[in-house]
Amino acid sequence: MTGPRHSCGVIGMYCSDDVTSDIFKALRMIQHRGQESAGISVFNGSKVITAKGTGLVSDAIKQTGMQAINGNCGIGHVRYPTSASKSEKNAEPIEVQITHGTIALAHNGAITNYQELKKKYLDTGWSFLTDSDSELISKIIAKHLIQNNDPVKAIRSTMGEIEGAYSLTLLYNNRVFGVRDPYGFRPLCVGWLGNGYILASESVAIDIFEGDLIRDIAPGEVVEITANEIKSHPSSVNYPSAHCMFEWIYFARPDSVIDGREVYDVRKAVGEILASESPADVDLVMPVPDSGRAHALGYSIGSNIRYEEGFMKNRFAERTFILPDQKQREDSVAMKMNPIRSTVNGKRILIVDDSIVRGTTLVKLVKMLRDAGAKEVHVRIGCPPVIAPCYYGVDMKSRDQFIATKYSVNEICRKIGADSLGYISVPGLVKAIGKPENDICLACLNNRYPTNISGETHRFQTTLRNSY
Ligand code: AMP
Repeated sequence: MTGPRHSCGVIGMYCSDDVTSDIFKALRMIQHRGQESAGISVFNGSKVITAKGTGLVSDAIKQTGMQAINGNCGIGHVRYPTSASKSEKNAEPIEVQITHGTIALAHNGAITNYQELKKKYLDTGWSFLTDSDSELISKIIAKHLIQNNDPVKAIRSTMGEIEGAYSLTLLYNNRVFGVRDPYGFRPLCVGWLGNGYILASESVAIDIFEGDLIRDIAPGEVVEITANEIKSHPSSVNYPSAHCMFEWIYFARPDSVIDGREVYDVRKAVGEILASESPADVDLVMPVPDSGRAHALGYSIGSNIRYEEGFMKNRFAERTFILPDQKQREDSVAMKMNPIRSTVNGKRILIVDDSIVRGTTLVKLVKMLRDAGAKEVHVRIGCPPVIAPCYYGVDMKSRDQFIATKYSVNEICRKIGADSLGYISVPGLVKAIGKPENDICLACLNNRYPTNISGETHRFQTTLRNSY
């Protein structure tokens, strides 16, 4: 399946030495943000060279002989799969040639007026090679560059046309830009490496070089980096921010710092608040690895109940969430997770996971624990009930997919076979994130979208859902 919805990872680099192998390293640090495909574009002194392919960074880029290329500036991308099928043509960076040179673009997010804009440009005679909104963005930037050859103006004019979530890195010949949409949905930060600057979706990509995180790119800001300077072009409009809460809850790595808050710290705070909001009389607290680990530790600290590892995770199992049918998803939970009997047998257990979407994972896990001899199984969730689709890049598609739109908490508890179920509250989550509620996107929890969502986008979501 293709479509304009993807949570991905982007990198941009400008250094006094060759950046090719460093972009490769940085992409490996944000590999969790996308495993479908990866790519690098570097300016080699005379032209932009792009190498991209499907699979993990090490497979996608190594095969292409990118190691032979040298250049002081470039960008990189990892793409998150939205289905089990892999599509080479959607790999990024996307290149567009114009008379003045080459643009290469890497995008994390989702453009909500993609269908309308695509139709508008198709009607004027444009053609597209992919269904990716990144191709559309790069072509609109190219259109504006042809008119004035001023990249900052071209980016700003493009920002006036596109709506939704976008954190971009852009290579235009030998110039590197970072762009964050006016709401700051998806993360983007800049760091100093000693010999130049790096733009990255997450700060872990700076840590690998023992570099310094300088700051987050502000919502609506455009920056240009060179080997010794960051030039900022701030937004002239003061929008409220809408940072995606799911980055802190699930998507980002715990050791990243996003918009001033360490992800691990937020998850632990979520667990502590959950323990006070939703206590339980149990013998031990257990995480659903890996995503529920910090939340469970927080719950254990907050409740003073012993923390134990009770599930072993098979690191090599495929990703359950994106498998195309329910039976496959259920089977693959068993392939992925196995209980440790000595931890579980005869005990009253509380398991903590980051989120429930369809409920597939927990139905299986609760049964596994009972089969392994658990006396009681209680479930706590680090994210309030998900009830509305994400149009800004997280792979949560349609309303009827969410268990929480159909059933009450008590009914879900019965469906997953647990003795009790508790979700963190929305105010509890906001407190854990530590930012004003107005600065956080909670649309998937409260159905209040920070931007207009057009009828076209709704229809498109439905088409995708029907293709499942
Ligand atoms: P489900 O089994 O459908 O209830 O999905 C919940 C599980 O999938 C949780 O363990 C989450 O860690 C994980 N999860 C939640 N949202 C996503 C997402 N957008 N992509 C991949 N995994 C997710």
